[in-house]
Amino acid sequence: MKHKSGSTKSNEDILIVDDTPDNLRLLSAMLTKKGYEVRKALNGRAAIASAQADTPDLILLDIKMPEMEGYEVCQHLKADPKTRDIPVIFISALDDVMDKVRAFASGGIDYVTKPFQEAEVLARIENQLKIQRLQKKLIQQNEELARSNRELEQFASVVSHDLQQPLQGITGFAKIMAIKYQNSLDETALDYLNRIFESGGRMQRLIQDLLTYAQVGTPNQTFELIDCNLILEQVRENLQTAIAEKYAKLDYDFLPKVIGNETQLIQLFQNLISNAIKFTNPEKSPEIKILAVPQNFKWCFEIHDNGIGIDTENLGRIFEAFHRVHSAKEFPGTGIGLATCKKIIENHQGEIWVKSELNVGTTFYFTLPIEKQG
Ligand code: ADP
Repeated sequence: MKHKSGSTKSNEDILIVDDTPDNLRLLSAMLTKKGYEVRKALNGRAAIASAQADTPDLILLDIKMPEMEGYEVCQHLKADPKTRDIPVIFISALDDVMDKVRAFASGGIDYVTKPFQEAEVLARIENQLKIQRLQKKLIQQNEELARSNRELEQFASVVSHDLQQPLQGITGFAKIMAIKYQNSLDETALDYLNRIFESGGRMQRLIQDLLTYAQVGTPNQTFELIDCNLILEQVRENLQTAIAEKYAKLDYDFLPKVIGNETQLIQLFQNLISNAIKFTNPEKSPEIKILAVPQNFKWCFEIHDNGIGIDTENLGRIFEAFHRVHSAKEFPGTGIGLATCKKIIENHQGEIWVKSELNVGTTFYFTLPIEKQG
């Protein structure tokens, strides 16, 4: 679209293709009067050449022309990536039998009939140009959004990496001081050193979680056939201390194979299962049940727990980064785990949702691509 002074209409460029000079003149006068820029072509070949040299915003294309019919011209335009997106409105004579199906099948989006009703022709053109404008804006905004997401991910990843080193220096020296000067420091000084050490540990976890979050969806990830039973074995091993401390029961039957990224799937199950172990009453041992059922050509996984549950008010927000329902003192954490799960699932073209009842338990559901048959 060739805008000049911010006006949406003034410079839109329309190519009229008609083998009758009188029609060309009539349409051209009508459109020029309305502020459009107009180009003319007397046959299909000239029209294709003109559109390829400089793409117009819209083409008005006569169906009945010698040499090359309008349908054929349209097919040519739609086959070329350069001219594919130009909206084509067909022109047909009222007394001709117009093959509407063929007109739409060849890529046309609308048609006007001769003799022309000026208001109707203008309304149909303006309609299509408006759709075109909105589409272009949407594409632009999508590209902008994708770019800004990429930048944000890069930023988070660089910041996380660069924060780790100085932090290790702080916690490392606090530890050395506490050990080396154990006998010369009083209780308060040792307590302060301990707090530095603990705060450093919390920050370390936060950085690590942010790094994991930022890395989901970065390019060059391998997607392959993954056996979820093996993923669960790995997760059970990674969480063995928490499982043993809380006497947690982890129950799953035979789980399916899915198409996915191994590291991310371990992360996903580990986040959900460690939450199921963590968010329980101290007097209750966690009982976690995992199953998968086929649903609409995907596997739908369910992770049930018998924990403290989540109130309805917070249920809609728990997948937001940093949103925590329970206090960090009571249940330590960073609030990035579920946001990472959501990102991982979206990266696998799936969905994730949750149902919960206070003091009864919570179930997380998510879908993953099914293994292709044959
Ligand atoms: P974190 O576990 O680090 O706090 P998450 O993003 O994993 O962060 O979870 C966000 C919040 O959702 C948690 O702080 C907790 O309040 C709630 N939550 C998550 N899983 C459960 C669960 N299984 N039962 C009860 N609450 C949960």
